[in-house]
Amino acid sequence: MEAKEWKEKLLTKRKNGYDRMPADERAAMNAYCESYKAFMNASKTERECVSEGIRLAEERGFRPYTRGMALKSGDKVYLSNRGKMLLLAVIGRKSLAEGAQIAAAHIDSPRLDLKPAPLYEDTELAYFKTHYYGGIRKYQWVTIPLELHGVVALKDGSTVRVVIGEGDEPKLVITDLLPHLAKDQSKKTLAEAFGGEQLNILVGSEPIEGEEKERVKLAVMKRLYEKYGIVEEDFISAELEAVPAANATDIGLDASMIGAYGQDDRVCGYAALKALLDLEEVPGKTAVCVLADKEEIGSVGVSGMKTRAFDAFMEDLCDSQGVPVRACLEKSFCLSADVAIAYDPNFGEVYEKRNSAFMNYGISLCKYTGSRGKGGASDASAELVAYIRRIFDENGVIWQIAELGKVDAGGGGTVAGFMANRNINTLDAGVPVLAMHAPFEVAGKLDCYMTYKGMKAVYKN
Ligand code: MN
Ligand code: MN
Repeated sequence: MEAKEWKEKLLTKRKNGYDRMPADERAAMNAYCESYKAFMNASKTERECVSEGIRLAEERGFRPYTRGMALKSGDKVYLSNRGKMLLLAVIGRKSLAEGAQIAAAHIDSPRLDLKPAPLYEDTELAYFKTHYYGGIRKYQWVTIPLELHGVVALKDGSTVRVVIGEGDEPKLVITDLLPHLAKDQSKKTLAEAFGGEQLNILVGSEPIEGEEKERVKLAVMKRLYEKYGIVEEDFISAELEAVPAANATDIGLDASMIGAYGQDDRVCGYAALKALLDLEEVPGKTAVCVLADKEEIGSVGVSGMKTRAFDAFMEDLCDSQGVPVRACLEKSFCLSADVAIAYDPNFGEVYEKRNSAFMNYGISLCKYTGSRGKGGASDASAELVAYIRRIFDENGVIWQIAELGKVDAGGGGTVAGFMANRNINTLDAGVPVLAMHAPFEVAGKLDCYMTYKGMKAVYKN
């Protein structure tokens, strides 16, 4: 054989996805990305993801699951865990004793939560105090328009939904120092230049008429009362999240990318959901989609991936077939669908280029995440990686494999470890994203679409 033939036979050919994707898939890719942007615009918080997810699922014939419900092959059910985590299943042709095909993503994203006593006035300006949620770089959250989304739970048991700043409505903002007076601030590190207690959101400046003190705060509270019927004490039992006031939009002169808030990890969450909703045939094994909350703060709490709510759901499904849940889980496969780190040429020094994910190279597999010597990673087995290579290749899914940046440059985790702890074979995979955790993250359309195709391949196998 000539060297050229040896090369063809032996060496890996990494190719841009646009050189590999059949031309007739373009239309499907674009249609998928339009539906993804619409989902993002309707889903700025984990609760909104759940309600939008339920709306879409019901359109496709999914019914709410109730314990003890008789289930047969082809049945489509969903379960909302407290409105913040969504579990969906399509019952397969085979018994759950043969395992389930699971895709698990998270729908919470970094943001600024209001404190329990958020509203105050200083120098005749009204502000909300915040406590940031997840790993944010604080300097990115100042001087950008913000919206407020969430709920206020009242003592009478009712819940008021709050949305401030959508569409043409007035926005909120956190101010920054002007360069003219920033001599000292500019000498600080990026991490130190903004303190958590400085992330105070400007919410008003016009005083109410009269002689009262804190007239601006009172005027803001009056507006909130008139719109939502809430009083200051109600903030105590509220979950109000300040999120960037920007809708999902195409990026680039070629519109080849999507910019949006919360793509970590709603870009995978939507792919996992949409692939399940779009299954044309009843799958062999039962297909399960998990959209979890609280990943950004450790997958904790009653709606995070460590919750027994997932186990209870699986146990209920198994009970309907008289199958012990442990027998199902040990034969199950889970794709832990979370965003990967896309190589950014502007910051090449933190990547190891031979093992990086690249935009437009397809869904990125990640054998292990973690930091400082794979610490905290679930580290999928070689056999499992081979399995997913096979089913992706068989289903025309363009994929790549990568690590999370250079060894010792940092690292991160996903829900993978918590699924693996349940005796489920689990592998990480997802969309490579630029500017992850920033208020506006960027992903390639081809990768979004290939992640959707990857999820479908998992459910079908
Ligand atoms: Mn994530
Ligand atoms: Mn994250």
